[in-house]
Amino acid sequence: MGWHPTNVLEAPEDIRPALRELARHPKVVALGETGLDYHHLPSEKPEFTAVDDARYQQKQADIFRQQMEVAAEFGLNCVIHQRSALEDTLSQMQPFVGRVRGVFHCFVDDRPPCDESWRWARWSVSPASPLSKTHKPFVTPLPPYT
Ligand SMILES: [Zn+2]
Repeated sequence: MGWHPTNVLEAPEDIRPALRELARHPKVVALGETGLDYHHLPSEKPEFTAVDDARYQQKQADIFRQQMEVAAEFGLNCVIHQRSALEDTLSQMQPFVGRVRGVFHCFVDDRPPCDESWRWARWSVSPASPLSKTHKPFVTPLPPYT
């Protein structure tokens, strides 16, 4: 369960209280999809501008960070969705290295998930859907962080 980055404009400013309630359920093993998706921005439509794009991206960042915070509190994994936002996704994850583990499920573009930046991140990249454009539910419990 989680809040998808492309739906953040409908999210409250702080989703953590509601997430914490849900995260207490014993069957919850991960939060997600969460992450960043810049592939389609509001300014693609004539009624929106770069200001709307910036607000959308900031809201994605806020909601992504809040979900990693709750994941860290509860020892949950994260299912990461990133599209056209790899650098920002990695930099947002960096403070959570060692506290949250995750699975990248959506990897449409950008560089392949096998270089050094992924190793320092110590997050798992799903081999099952590296080029998938579909969004199948994908939750894999990972072994405890060591
Ligand atoms: Zn996705």
